[in-house]
Amino acid sequence: MIDTHCHIYLDQFRNDIGQVLDRAYDAGVRAVLMPAIDFDSLSEMEGVSHPGIRFYKMAGVHPCEINGDRPDLEKLLMDRVSSDHIIAVGETGLDYYWSTDHINEQQHSMRLHCRAAKMVRKPVVLHNRDSTTDLLDIFSDEQDGSLTGVWHCFNGTVDEAKRAMDIGLYLGIGGVVTFKNAGVDKIVEHLPLDRLLLETDAPFLAPVPFRGKRNEPAYVKLVAEKLSGIFGLTVHKIAEQTTDNACRLFGINVD
Ligand SMILES: [Zn+2]
Repeated sequence: MIDTHCHIYLDQFRNDIGQVLDRAYDAGVRAVLMPAIDFDSLSEMEGVSHPGIRFYKMAGVHPCEINGDRPDLEKLLMDRVSSDHIIAVGETGLDYYWSTDHINEQQHSMRLHCRAAKMVRKPVVLHNRDSTTDLLDIFSDEQDGSLTGVWHCFNGTVDEAKRAMDIGLYLGIGGVVTFKNAGVDKIVEHLPLDRLLLETDAPFLAPVPFRGKRNEPAYVKLVAEKLSGIFGLTVHKIAEQTTDNACRLFGINVD
């Protein structure tokens, strides 16, 4: 399995990262994709390693870090994402839940990320909270036939999912699909498995039965098990298909 969205480089894992990654390996995780939060994230990712797991870096600035004008954003972004060591642009996107003070700046930043992604032909990784219509409008507006990406931690409606897939997005499914009252499982059952990715968003949003605790990449297996129940397929089949999807989108190979 691939954990396509995991902030394993954060301080929450500083004291026991070796054990965390051993558990991920034992659970069947063979690749971990690390979205950035800001440009500092890249140096924090440097030290992450495990003999049985491949790690992939992204570069970008999380919408919650866009607290005003960032005149250097475009230049830094282009510089970082053009590196061969960076497989995707993100995470970017919109978040109107934590703050609506900088909506214009968030939207501008998301556009810059989409343009950088097109320039280097890599996917964008999108965070979305209380901002679905604007998120899909901007992605659609920037779509020139070459833009690809993922709506990470998908929690929309069936119609929103269909629109997202129509304009070229994959949907990242994480721990929220296991939450009793979230209803994401009732949406996901209507979606095609070949457009879904597994993710944890660790250390955030741990699946049941670890809800509220620190999330970790091994728990991606709980997401796969939930999808296995929803689709009536074996966990192996879910793992295989979602791994294929991630390899196709991110241009990686984990054999
Ligand atoms: Zn994230």
